[in-house]
Amino acid sequence: MIHVPLRNMNLGEGANGEMVTNPTPWYFITHPRGNVVIDGGNAPEVAGDYRKHWGPLTEVSTPVMTPEQAVVPALKAAGLDPAEVRWIVQTHLHLDHTGALAVIEAFPNAEVLVTRTEYAWAHAPASYAAPGYCKFDFVKDGIPWVLLEHSEDGYDLFGDGTLRCWWTPGHTPGHMSIEVKLPSGAALLLAADAANTIDHLNERKLPAFNVSVDDAINSVRRLRRLAWRSQATVVAGHDPEQWPTLRHAPEYYD
Ligand SMILES: [Zn+2]
Repeated sequence: MIHVPLRNMNLGEGANGEMVTNPTPWYFITHPRGNVVIDGGNAPEVAGDYRKHWGPLTEVSTPVMTPEQAVVPALKAAGLDPAEVRWIVQTHLHLDHTGALAVIEAFPNAEVLVTRTEYAWAHAPASYAAPGYCKFDFVKDGIPWVLLEHSEDGYDLFGDGTLRCWWTPGHTPGHMSIEVKLPSGAALLLAADAANTIDHLNERKLPAFNVSVDDAINSVRRLRRLAWRSQATVVAGHDPEQWPTLRHAPEYYD
């Protein structure tokens, strides 16, 4: 979870300093050819001295995290082996999504999929966007990056439709959302921060943090088309109202 100013969530709201508490989810997918971590939450350091680890962002937003919520202990508690993770898929590289990269040595058989655009921006963001990135987590040797080009939009990771990557810029320039096809045939569309909330998805509210409002609006419209096409349930990135209605580990979708 993270406490954030409402004015940083919804455009035109929160002028009196109201705060909201948002979930900071991550996702795990099992597949016969190797498992997938999507994002990976916060780095384990965030359960301790988060000000030191996250820096200036914590002057306005404060995380709430226990050590057990970090990606490796959470996987082990669920009976899952980090060595069986084949891919770490990054919707983007904001600091509440890079928890698996922070402990990349725990995933000896994983490669890290992210767009080349996001990789470049995260390493050299504009000054207004810099507090959203924690370079301790991902600016280091030993991360086996695989960089997706825009020409690969819709990339099908396993080639069987299980996991497809859709470019949804606006929140960040290289953001992508992930469409997951379940064994039952049902689909989930993990919007991540292309739609922080269902209100954003449906344009009842506009997100307050964007690198491009125009791109953000086009991306939520794209998400709605994708969800219509596959009749997917859209999972918003940080929605305190939707979150309790979803299944959480050890429950799962199949
Ligand atoms: Zn973000």
